[in-house]
Amino acid sequence: MQTNLIEKFKNTPEGQEAEDILRSCVHCGFCTATCPTYQLLGDELDSPRGRIYLMKEVLEGSEVSRKTQKHLDRCLTCRSCETTCPSGVKYGRLVDIGRHIVEQKVGRSFGENILRKTLRTILPNPKLFASLLITGRVFKPLLPEKMKCKIPAKQTTGSWPTTTHTRKMVVLDGCVQPVTAPNTNSSTARVLDKLGIQLLRASKAGCCGAVSHHLSAHEEGLDYMRRNIDSWWPYVEQGVEAIVMTASGCGVVVKDYATLLAHDTAYAEKAKKISSLTKDISEILANENLSSLSHIGNKKKVAFHSPCTLQHGQKITNVVEKILVSVDYQITNVIDPHLCCGSAGTYSILQSELSQQLLTNKLNSLQIESPEIIATANIGCQMHMATKAKIPVKHWIELLDS
Ligand code: SF4
Ligand code: SF4
Repeated sequence: MQTNLIEKFKNTPEGQEAEDILRSCVHCGFCTATCPTYQLLGDELDSPRGRIYLMKEVLEGSEVSRKTQKHLDRCLTCRSCETTCPSGVKYGRLVDIGRHIVEQKVGRSFGENILRKTLRTILPNPKLFASLLITGRVFKPLLPEKMKCKIPAKQTTGSWPTTTHTRKMVVLDGCVQPVTAPNTNSSTARVLDKLGIQLLRASKAGCCGAVSHHLSAHEEGLDYMRRNIDSWWPYVEQGVEAIVMTASGCGVVVKDYATLLAHDTAYAEKAKKISSLTKDISEILANENLSSLSHIGNKKKVAFHSPCTLQHGQKITNVVEKILVSVDYQITNVIDPHLCCGSAGTYSILQSELSQQLLTNKLNSLQIESPEIIATANIGCQMHMATKAKIPVKHWIELLDS
């Protein structure tokens, strides 16, 4: 695709990156076939190709309107289009850059700004989020059904192993996950302990920066990233083997720290090291001998929902399924496994109607062969699916912990 960026963008690193991405698109339209919003809405402007055109126009200096913003807002950033694209167009980066520019040019209504600021304040702050969740649980019986289902029940979590091992890794605690699903990381620690690996926690690390970044508050997101790097650095210097991610939504962002901080002279090198050490828990277990866990599944039927951030963002496919089969679970078939469940970070709140349609479709496709459990690899998907699922929804690592 030919481009003609205006001077203002041509000379910035983001503008240059966006131009390279735009030029890699050959306008073939293959990506439209696997785009969830195009499937639901049938509007070219709600397809990857249509959105790429909109962003090209923005970067070439055309007038930007609320309409442009609406079509970019409706994108889930699921990156299914990237998996389909034969030309390797890095759509996810382009939409990040495009949204940031559009945000500065168009602005938002007072209500939208308040909601987005509230999400950016509460979600990355576990203490605040936890106290609101406790209040929500107290008043849950009085709430309308629509809100009730969004308040997760308190999860029981076992103890964190205390055995010291020579092999050590450090885990990201995150922000939403330790509050709503603390058992995910403690299960991870117990499973790794059985395999002779000690899982450490860096107490000052927290939100990976995704919430702010995806709401176009890029500087705020970068500050979270710098804080995590500072917090992990002593562990890196001590020689941990990996920085373990148990939420694929965080993993995809931490693996991208190297790119996002490439122009920060103080952090670029450290960010590169952090990204290179970052591994999803499935990548860790795929390289370990799991024979000590071999009969744990007892032939239970599990439907695995691979989050977009795992399959499209990190390109990790069929790894979790193989692990679960190796420990004696049965994996059921899922229709259209490439499609998003509608969670997509804050999308389920900001684009509730589309999100609910995607959720209904996803649950139908997951339950087509009557599984006993739905397993996934990201806290956002887990919470979102649990609002409507009739069977338990868990992080898959919990299935290896018993
Ligand atoms: S993003 Fe890829 S698949 Fe979509 S139109 Fe461009 S080149 Fe074709
Ligand atoms: S990221 Fe997902 S929703 Fe957005 S254009 Fe690509 S396929 Fe469609």
